[in-house]
Amino acid sequence: MSRYILSLDQGTTSSRAIILDHQGAIVAQAQREITQIYPQPGWVEHDPREILGTQRVAAREALARAGLAAAEIIAIGITNQRETTIVWDRHTGEPVCNAIVWQCRRTAPLCEELARQGAADLIRARTGLVIDPYFSATKVRWILEHVPDAERRAQAGDLLFGTVDSWLIWNFTGGRAHVTDPSNASRTMLYNIHQRRWDEELLRLLGIPPAMLPAVRPTSGVFEMTTADFLGTPVPVAGAVGDQQSALFGQCCFDAGSAKNTYGTGCFALMNTGDRPVASAHGLLTTVGWEINGETTYALEGSVFVAGAAVQWLRDELGLIESAAESESLARSVPDANGAYLVPAFVGLGAPHWDMNARGVLVGLTRGTTKAHVVRACLESIAYQSADMLAVMAEDRGAPLAELRVDGGASANDLLLQFQADILGVPVLRPVDVETTARGAAFLAGLAVNYWSGPDELAACNDTGRRFEPSMDAGQRARLLAGWHRAVDRARDWER
Ligand code: ADP
Repeated sequence: MSRYILSLDQGTTSSRAIILDHQGAIVAQAQREITQIYPQPGWVEHDPREILGTQRVAAREALARAGLAAAEIIAIGITNQRETTIVWDRHTGEPVCNAIVWQCRRTAPLCEELARQGAADLIRARTGLVIDPYFSATKVRWILEHVPDAERRAQAGDLLFGTVDSWLIWNFTGGRAHVTDPSNASRTMLYNIHQRRWDEELLRLLGIPPAMLPAVRPTSGVFEMTTADFLGTPVPVAGAVGDQQSALFGQCCFDAGSAKNTYGTGCFALMNTGDRPVASAHGLLTTVGWEINGETTYALEGSVFVAGAAVQWLRDELGLIESAAESESLARSVPDANGAYLVPAFVGLGAPHWDMNARGVLVGLTRGTTKAHVVRACLESIAYQSADMLAVMAEDRGAPLAELRVDGGASANDLLLQFQADILGVPVLRPVDVETTARGAAFLAGLAVNYWSGPDELAACNDTGRRFEPSMDAGQRARLLAGWHRAVDRARDWER
């Protein structure tokens, strides 16, 4: 009997299930959207019951589409939206309130308070993170303070906290496993990434009872069997990993120095730094990639706030293009941006510029600038911003980038990827299958049950797809980058 891996990808907008075979090919998939709840400006919630329900339905549907019984699934891997926080009653399984989603800014005042108390250095040293409402810690604190009776119930040991991986596993296993993995734990702002355990001092600082926390288990390893009612027969959950780290693994970035960039609404870049947690001198995050066989692999992480969103802006606000895909044909109609630069600092600039008061600019215009030049400048801005971030990542690690693996919706744009290769001066590799997030969790679960033997076999599962070789000469690259940095200077410090 051939057997398969089931990968569950619980993302911000949908719950997906993908079944992979031993060659890494997708056999079937299913997807369910989840409702975005915006109770107030800046607040974002999900219904934990809906997260669970949609993920269950997607898993069952994928099995049905593949014509498989649960007994043919050798293991389940879970990857999930990170940082999103759920607190529930350990006796009834009832969530005490909606999930507070990673994007939710409600705890900004609490973060400011922590910064005022001078906690930034401690938090960075222990967790590798900067103080920000993104991370789970202040969201848990908020729930304890604002949900009636939550503080008392938590102190009495009646409440459990988990990120989405914990919530799913707890439910799929009938409450037998309250667990997470280090890649998810390292996004809570409560996990000591050096000692690899929950940090007692941070728990005290945030007033979070240790009894609420899940046990931290290896990323790749059997957590627990699911109950029979989930898929028909118990199946081991053998991998759990945060979505960005999962994509890094799914891209086969197993060696120190390898890196991936995901081109979506924003860009998310992660670089494997091996067994060394590298502290960034440029405001990047230090995070756990995964733990396998007792070995922890670390990563540096950075993001570009506005990437594909700038293409949406061309389409929706400026009306220059009808579809995101049209940006490529229009940009191709001109040989270059004709000296124009767009800096899409719509919400400020992140690493390595870190200027929250920067705003967007379009500079270098002449009477000859056409809409094609502006569209091209927009695509180029995605590559420039990524290049700036990857440059400091390589500097933090102390070795130049050798190549870049890419995925995400905007990685469909060949012109963007060729320009990215040109401006980085290294090859850019796009796999045939850009479902790298689901693939990573599948790989990690498959390794745990010896479905795959190791990195070489996994690498053979990934079809290389297309490789974009740099073809720009160094002089031209330097001139363009210098122009870009002058444009960035114009964008700086605008909002007063
Ligand atoms: P997310 O996961 O952040 O929602 P996706 O990975 O689905 O994003 O990618 C969608 C983003 O990619 C959108 O911002 C869209 O403008 C951009 N995009 C999609 N296709 C293209 C394309 N061919 N060229 C440039 N940008 C694109």
